[in-house]
Amino acid sequence: MLKVFKNHSLYKHNTFGVKVSAKFYAAPETPDELITILHKYRTPDQDLLIIGEGSNILLTNNFQGLVIRPDIKGIEILDKSPDNAIIKVWAGENWDNFVVYCINNGFGGVENLSWIPGSVGACPIQNIGAYGAEVENVIESVTGILTDNLEQITFIRNKCNFGYRDSIFKQELKDRFIITNVIFKLSRNPVLNTTYGRLQNELAGNKKTDLQSVRQAVIKIRKDKLPDPDKFGSAGSFFRNPVISKSKFNNLRSDYSDIPAYPTNNQGVKIAAGWLIEKAGWAGKRTGDAGVYNKQALILLNYGSATGKQIKDLAEKIMISVSNKFGIDLQTEVNVI
Ligand SMILES: Cc1cc2nc3c(=O)[nH]c(=O)nc-3n(C[C@H](O)[C@H](O)[C@H](O)COP(=O)(O)OP(=O)(O)OC[C@H]3O[C@@H](n4cnc5c(N)ncnc54)[C@H](O)[C@@H]3O)c2cc1C
Repeated sequence: MLKVFKNHSLYKHNTFGVKVSAKFYAAPETPDELITILHKYRTPDQDLLIIGEGSNILLTNNFQGLVIRPDIKGIEILDKSPDNAIIKVWAGENWDNFVVYCINNGFGGVENLSWIPGSVGACPIQNIGAYGAEVENVIESVTGILTDNLEQITFIRNKCNFGYRDSIFKQELKDRFIITNVIFKLSRNPVLNTTYGRLQNELAGNKKTDLQSVRQAVIKIRKDKLPDPDKFGSAGSFFRNPVISKSKFNNLRSDYSDIPAYPTNNQGVKIAAGWLIEKAGWAGKRTGDAGVYNKQALILLNYGSATGKQIKDLAEKIMISVSNKFGIDLQTEVNVI
């Protein structure tokens, strides 16, 4: 039966815990239901918002259109060779449940991405990444429905325009393409990727390092670093790490010798946004129930009853202050709606 609700609360559908509602909310459980909902409930004058588990969005107002949460479940092994497993995962599956499934079956490639909140359908959108791994490296293809004409399209990996926290789905196809499933290629002879400094340290005392121990180390690091989701609302990193030119970086380094920087594939230098925000004096600052996490200034918090608008205002003040101090314009990683 079609699940469509009117004036539906989105409180439980966003990890910031912002109290807003959707005029219409639908949670299709099959691709056919999704198409029926688009046919019946989508009108050209009505806004559309696609959501997964709401861990990378900031809702600033009641949504006056149709919210669709693809709730299509299932994990299917399409092919298994001695080296690889090809697995189709439907969009409504929880990302970390899929990681656990892979580790339990000895499939390597996603263990560094353990404990990232969200759905499988959203993982290609910003090309989720952590501890030296990015999901693009294990994606074979992404399939979904184009909302303009309800056509089903499959994008093979090299057509997804993956980049740092970026993809075609976040750019040209934003809000126009509903991802229904993702096909992954995982290794049955995993080569562990433990070069990331903190991960290496965490694993140093281990007698044996395997997929499970990498997962446990990643979870431990994340628990130390991230705010407790039972106490605070957040959406993880609020801003992207900016990439600046080498000459600008050299100028900054002459004033701030400790500025953390990472090489990129192109000519630029990636700077830690959290460091910029901290140096601008924002770590631990709080206005009402909207605040900046004291252990990692890249994360904005809802201490209880902050509105999306209050969190957005705080983010804008931070952006102005970083721009005034360093001449760098921060961009949000979180989707502000
Ligand atoms: C505590 C915390 C830690 C985090 N750590 C990391 C991290 O280490 N690395 C990282 O990369 N991210 C991290 N994130 C961000 C977040 O987990 C990811 O971006 C995740 O992929 C979002 O999934 P979601 O299902 O919650 O998407 P949502 O927040 O619901 O949506 C995100 C975007 O994707 C779109 N979208 C969602 N589902 C679909 C679909 N099926 N089809 C088309 N569009 C869709 C939405 O319109 C929106 O633009 C963190 C978030 C939190 C709260």
